[in-house]
Amino acid sequence: MIIMRKGATEEEVTGVVNDIKKHGLGVDVSKGEIRTVIGIIGDETKISATHLETLPGVKEVRLVETPYKLINREYSTLFDGKTESRVVKAGKIRIGADEPVFIAGPCAIEGKQQLMQIATEVKAAGAHILRGGVFKPRTSVHSFQGLGSNIEGARQALGWLREAGDKYDMPVITEIRGESHVDLVKEYADILQIGSRNMYDQDLLIAAAKTRKPILLKRHFGASIEEFLSFAEYIAASGNKDIILCERGIVPIGKGKSYTRYTLDLQAIPVVQKETYLPIIVDPSHAAGRRDLIMTMSMAAIAAGASGLEIEVHYNAKEAKCDGQQMITSNELGKLIEQCKALHQSLSLFRKENRAATCIN
Ligand code: PEP
Ligand code: MN
Repeated sequence: MIIMRKGATEEEVTGVVNDIKKHGLGVDVSKGEIRTVIGIIGDETKISATHLETLPGVKEVRLVETPYKLINREYSTLFDGKTESRVVKAGKIRIGADEPVFIAGPCAIEGKQQLMQIATEVKAAGAHILRGGVFKPRTSVHSFQGLGSNIEGARQALGWLREAGDKYDMPVITEIRGESHVDLVKEYADILQIGSRNMYDQDLLIAAAKTRKPILLKRHFGASIEEFLSFAEYIAASGNKDIILCERGIVPIGKGKSYTRYTLDLQAIPVVQKETYLPIIVDPSHAAGRRDLIMTMSMAAIAAGASGLEIEVHYNAKEAKCDGQQMITSNELGKLIEQCKALHQSLSLFRKENRAATCIN
């Protein structure tokens, strides 16, 4: 990280940027109220700190030890002296601001009537963002693959999702499973979701980042927190810091005989918040894999400081073409949102004190 002097001129900033580029490296320029900070993207051994320190306008060169640098909380504090967290905007909705955000909808879009009914219901229940899978990641090739398994089906389902979002005034989110989905989905969705199974796909992360749309990145179920943040860094390094992180459970002990689909790693929430300024939300549906735990784990996630929740909803779980066992109804969602909001409100004092502690450390 190259910290420029207060009042460094444009010319001085450009001088440093060009010097870094000459060494075959990329740059990330962040202009704060107080000063400009320049992050180097790429192999930092190609350039020496002593050389950079001699360039006009440079105050200090600091090494960030973690593999994720641009999304490191420390980086955000350098240029404006504040420790504010990033708020990611999708339409009128702000993720990472004071109020928790609720994303809800079916696991998969199954038809227009199904999506429209669920959209009306989740909107009435208080959801802010509508979800619906078109390209479904499935373990078995023999199960329902989502309407995106052929191109006409994909366009049609994405069109319904857009229509439902516009009709009920909700931004919409859907998963892109491969690079070939990016150009199509960006025409319809407000937020691009990269699922757990694809967290490690660098090329997908880069292609998604370049759309400039907000990206919701789900943690792989076998990924450490360091890996999770390191792959989020690929998005930031491609010039897009509108990243929403999502904890969705990690592989449980005794899988096969296990009582839950995954183990929700609630500790990841405060840890991630210490490490980065990006918002983190929780998906209790895929973590639990059973509807009777959704309320409890949603409350737990909000208590742990999550900026929102992503929840699967269906009016008839028995008929759902995937993940029926973890779907809740919109009535249950309404209660869940109400209770999570009340809990969030009651914890506001705790949050203030805790945030101060998080930022100082
Ligand atoms: C999903 O949200 O539709 C999904 C498949 O989740 P995950 O990638 O976390 O398994
Ligand atoms: Mn699902």
